[in-house]
Amino acid sequence: MIQLEAVSKSFAMHGKTLPILQIPSWRVESGERIALIGPSGSGKSTLLHVLSGVIQPDLGEVWVDGEPLHQYKEAKRDQYRAKKVGYIFQDFHLISSLTARQNVELIVPSAWSKRQTAEQLDYWFERVGLQDRMHHLPAQLSRGQQQRAAIVRALIAKPKLILADEPTGSLDWETARDVMSLLLEICAAEQLTLLTVTHDLHLADMYPARIHIQDLNEIVRREAV
Ligand code: ADP
Ligand code: MG
Repeated sequence: MIQLEAVSKSFAMHGKTLPILQIPSWRVESGERIALIGPSGSGKSTLLHVLSGVIQPDLGEVWVDGEPLHQYKEAKRDQYRAKKVGYIFQDFHLISSLTARQNVELIVPSAWSKRQTAEQLDYWFERVGLQDRMHHLPAQLSRGQQQRAAIVRALIAKPKLILADEPTGSLDWETARDVMSLLLEICAAEQLTLLTVTHDLHLADMYPARIHIQDLNEIVRREAV
């Protein structure tokens, strides 16, 4: 599903070039559910941005679902992202003037009929326990409910790769656990590949697999020597 080869990415900071990612090789199989852990500033979000095609590495190959992202220009990476990636943010990124349902409707594939759209929306809002809340504005929902709506938005079109960047980072512990287990359960049932950044080791323990970014990243290993 994911294959990285000799990927490196640096950022220019105060006139200096700072290496952030230097990943010799990494493979993720289709359907894996992985928690990505590591200290703040170690490049976790940068790695997700590379995988979603928001940024390109300076060097190396990035393959996702057979697509060579490193060869794609921005427009093609945008198409790839719209079709194949569901992204879940720490702070939900719901549009505040739209209801939960309207937020999801925005990204429903244009090929879907009105009826299919309505059926799917009903099904998914029920599946995440928001059937009575879908006509609420984000501000009328709890933070956990907002993230459930954002999960529906990320998953409804069944993109093959779900990327979640600290999806429970702004939730209290119990809500975080419930939201994480919902996300894991849906991705398992739908056989989606899930990569979730979390700094909470208890939440990471819920995942079938965990990877520390410092085990992927040659930079840190070199510095540690
Ligand atoms: P993490 O998600 O692990 O906390 P990030 O991937 O967000 O880390 O960032 C890694 C490092 O790269 C940080 O030092 C950050 O300041 C830097 N960085 C990230 N994005 C940019 C950017 N667009 N320009 C310059 N520096 C950046
Ligand atoms: Mg981050």
